[in-house]
Amino acid sequence: MDANRYKFWGWGRVGEEATAEERAGLKAHMLLRFGTMNGDEMAPPRADEITLPPPRLGIPATLADVLTADHEDRLIHSYGKSYPDSVRAFARQYPHPPDLVAHPANEADVIAVLDHADSVGAAVIPFGGGSSVVGGVEPAVRGDYAGVISLDLQALDRVLEVDTVSRAARIQAGVLGPHLEAQLKPYGLTLRHYPQSFEYSSLGGWIATRAGGHFATVLTHIDDLVENTRVVTPRGVCESRRLPGSGAGPSPDRMFIGSEGILGVITEAWMRLQARPVFRAGTAVRFRDWHRGVAAVRLLSQSGLSPSNCRIIDAEEAAMTRAGDGSAAILVLAFESADHPVEAWMARALEIAGGAGGEWDTGAAPATDGHRSGESGAWRNAFLRAPYYREVLTGFGAMYDTFETAITWDRFDALYADVTGAVHRAIREVTGREGSVSCRFTHLYPDGPAPYFSFYCLPKRGSELEQWREIKQAASEALIAAGGTITHHHAIGRDHRPWYDRQRPELFATALRAAKQALDPKGLLNPGVLIDP
Ligand SMILES: Cc1cc2nc3c(=O)[nH]c(=O)nc-3n(C[C@H](O)[C@H](O)[C@H](O)COP(=O)(O)OP(=O)(O)OC[C@H]3O[C@@H](n4cnc5c(N)ncnc54)[C@H](O)[C@@H]3O)c2cc1C
Repeated sequence: MDANRYKFWGWGRVGEEATAEERAGLKAHMLLRFGTMNGDEMAPPRADEITLPPPRLGIPATLADVLTADHEDRLIHSYGKSYPDSVRAFARQYPHPPDLVAHPANEADVIAVLDHADSVGAAVIPFGGGSSVVGGVEPAVRGDYAGVISLDLQALDRVLEVDTVSRAARIQAGVLGPHLEAQLKPYGLTLRHYPQSFEYSSLGGWIATRAGGHFATVLTHIDDLVENTRVVTPRGVCESRRLPGSGAGPSPDRMFIGSEGILGVITEAWMRLQARPVFRAGTAVRFRDWHRGVAAVRLLSQSGLSPSNCRIIDAEEAAMTRAGDGSAAILVLAFESADHPVEAWMARALEIAGGAGGEWDTGAAPATDGHRSGESGAWRNAFLRAPYYREVLTGFGAMYDTFETAITWDRFDALYADVTGAVHRAIREVTGREGSVSCRFTHLYPDGPAPYFSFYCLPKRGSELEQWREIKQAASEALIAAGGTITHHHAIGRDHRPWYDRQRPELFATALRAAKQALDPKGLLNPGVLIDP
């Protein structure tokens, strides 16, 4: 097996995995939490253990360099990176692989693949990094398609132009986070968009899913960083004008931002850049009472201070990530700037936090190393390494998953109580024992937070998928009933469809279907995501 290949069953490339120490830590935590392991550890699958249905599509000579039916390529493009994806990979279940995988080298190849799909009646699923956690890249499409092509955009990976005066760059959509930042670094500029999946997710995927970076406030959503888009649709190329702002009717970019591959394939975008920050201050504040911590965060969100990080982590999650001992919620607080020292902002933020009951080590000056030490450092390390832990936990037979939402401050307490209650109940009923449910805030707005929940339990071996579905159902119902959104930044994909259908206004759904009909009249692109074809 090519060592540079992606793991089709987990995160990253072959050979990149949790260390022995991390595995031991996860095992110890599982024993501490549940008093038992969940049976024998499962080994990750090998490609030769899996038989795939033969491809239903042939490869025309004109696309011989672009299309492939390679066994492992089809496996890699069968799933995203969600818990159910992980369970099915470990169960060696691959009933719906793509028939072919396309690796376009340029936009002309993308157009050729769409033309070919149109002529043979195949569905096409755009694939960036494949880090979807909502079934967004899964080729399980219903309908009368001759087959499915997964369109992998990763070869479109270059920064094509940099405008240092306006601070923007024209960037190909398939580029993954680290390679994008490496190309901007010589200019002293950064996109400064760091989702937790940064290492293995792409610019086009971020735009298509309206991704959220890890900064808490201001310029953290990809939406606000997009200056223009260039999109290949089955009806032709649609490129918007490059502008810092425009009031000329509804925004063409906003139609494609969040379109999850159903309206067209984003091939390029001009993106707004920022100078690389050099001034930093970070610290951790402890709150014995979660609700007082939440109140402090609300005051901070409305203070106009715009912290780069303002992530309150409840006591349960703090213990799990070793940011705390489980006796207090931890507020990870940080400021950064490319222009000016930020100590004054931090001092005022600590006054606010202290007034709401927060405590911190007064002896230590706020760290200037961007959260690399102390409680914030422990949390940061766990955050960066977490993508590698899912496959370990699935192998151990544990169910670990997350879901997220946003809600106005006036309704947060009720949503928190309803959602944690519903998920605890569902875990108890479904698995027959208590599980863990924890919460942190990922993003903040003056009018409300984006709470991010994690749950952790021991499912019955062999029934993981059904049990996950029941717990996910309970969580999603509770979110929608409490007035939250079904997702703040994980997108809709196929998994969130039932609740998205209830959340969006019906007339908007009609308009979206009309846009789909205009751009993709045969419904070839990502069928089943956002709307039915
Ligand atoms: C461990 C982990 C951590 C995560 N953390 C975050 C986080 O912090 N913030 C966040 O927002 N999300 C997060 N996610 C979710 C996921 O990373 C995001 O949705 C991300 O934006 C997907 O990018 P991608 O390139 O991997 O897209 P893919 O998974 O390849 O595709 C996602 C969707 O976009 C479509 N698509 C992809 N590329 C294009 C294109 N060029 N043109 C048109 N459509 C396209 C696909 O068809 C699919 O519907 C996380 C996921 C994991 C597994």
